[in-house]
Amino acid sequence: MAPSAAAGSGPLVAIYPGSFDPVTNGHLDLIRRGAKLADRLIVAVLNNTSKQPLFSVEERTGMLREATAGLDGVEVDSFDGLLVDFAERRGARAIVRGLRGISDYETERDMALLNGRLRPGLETIFLLAGEEWRFLSSRMVKEVVKLGGDVSGLVPGVVWRRLKSI
Ligand code: ADP
Repeated sequence: MAPSAAAGSGPLVAIYPGSFDPVTNGHLDLIRRGAKLADRLIVAVLNNTSKQPLFSVEERTGMLREATAGLDGVEVDSFDGLLVDFAERRGARAIVRGLRGISDYETERDMALLNGRLRPGLETIFLLAGEEWRFLSSRMVKEVVKLGGDVSGLVPGVVWRRLKSI
């Protein structure tokens, strides 16, 4: 079998994929920490046609770009189709994902195993959610905002400004 491109050496390009609908301070914490581990961290917004997002892919990448401006080695992109194909195109050897608790574990484990099968050598690196942000999800942010709550301490400024204007 030909060696997989994923099993290379050299600079570590890692992908942090997700819906980011919208990006929260929990995601940002992970991005900051992931950027310290990888030479380049590509935050990749999944264009998932089966989910009905609040923000378009362009809006989500725009907010992510603003929130991560000034972070060295961080890039924002989007993709559709298989993550492993996107990883191949971008020369990535690792996927970064966050674990908030047991409820994340089983799906994250299965995705990591599946991606490893689809592209041998592609590793998933799990970072524990920062203690401060373990409870936080994009879904909860959207629900609180819908009910008129203030989430200014939970999301980057650019996101809060957008949410307030909805
Ligand atoms: P997805 O639809 O792929 O789960 P999300 O945007 O909800 O997309 O999450 C992307 C990744 O970020 C997942 O690995 C998720 O576990 C992680 N994540 C989500 N919220 C937090 C948080 N508060 N702290 C750390 N990691 C998080």
